[in-house]
Amino acid sequence: MKDWTVILLKEIGLRVTPQRRAILELLKENGSHPSAETIYFALLKTHPSISFATVYNTLAKLAEAEKIQQLEIDPQRKRFDHCLTPHHHFYCKACGRIFDVLDDSFLLKNVHEPEFKDVDDHQVDSIQVYLKGLCKDCKK
Ligand SMILES: [Zn+2]
Ligand SMILES: [Zn+2]
Repeated sequence: MKDWTVILLKEIGLRVTPQRRAILELLKENGSHPSAETIYFALLKTHPSISFATVYNTLAKLAEAEKIQQLEIDPQRKRFDHCLTPHHHFYCKACGRIFDVLDDSFLLKNVHEPEFKDVDDHQVDSIQVYLKGLCKDCKK
């Protein structure tokens, strides 16, 4: 029986270790798009020997191989998303959580429509909209 974490790590040529598998599992469980720091400190409890370099390099390799998404929405640090389905993100400036925005009807044009191919003559391959503000919990 092969775990998805084992398959994914082997696919990109990384040695399968309990630490690397834990990084992937945590990224999938944590819905707020954690940074390398967040993952590192969360895993220290269960994997005391884990190093920050391992976390950072594993995430960088996965993002490079396009197995996870790297988000530039947080001005402080890179954030990561295990979900590869195209979707937009909302960043809360107060609590720092990043929420998935699956409904893009807020856009004048639906980016998934076929006519949304060219912008100023540039060929668009992918679009990621970053929304920022106060989340539903923080605005109370
Ligand atoms: Zn918030
Ligand atoms: Zn996301």
